[in-house]
Amino acid sequence: MEPVVGATPKVVRSEEEWRALLDPAEFAVLRQAGTERPYTGEYTDTKTEGLYECRACGAELFRSDTKFDSHCGWPSFFSPLAGDSVILREDRALGMKRVEVLCAACHSHLGHVFEGEGYPTPTDQRYCINSVSLKLVPSE
Ligand SMILES: [Zn+2]
Repeated sequence: MEPVVGATPKVVRSEEEWRALLDPAEFAVLRQAGTERPYTGEYTDTKTEGLYECRACGAELFRSDTKFDSHCGWPSFFSPLAGDSVILREDRALGMKRVEVLCAACHSHLGHVFEGEGYPTPTDQRYCINSVSLKLVPSE
């Protein structure tokens, strides 16, 4: 898929403000593009119905009905909530060519998206997202 270059974020905060708002683990992933260790995140195996929001800014990002069992160690979704809820950016860190997934509203790092892996989902895409980047709001 083609990386999408996003516009200016709607939510803009200084590094100091983000540090005050987020705990150190959240800051390391959301603002420094870190990755939580596999199989450690609180939502890896969660089946609860609801909406997953950006933990940094509260934007709605993913719905539980697109979450699937990828067995990769991180929460995996086959589609974002809407095409414009995330932005995609080419990531050549660590000698790999990957596509980074960012929150469209605040440009915080969420994870990466992979495709063509053969998962039996409608899109054959795997949005591999750090739990610590998300906040699940269960349905009523
Ligand atoms: Zn956000």
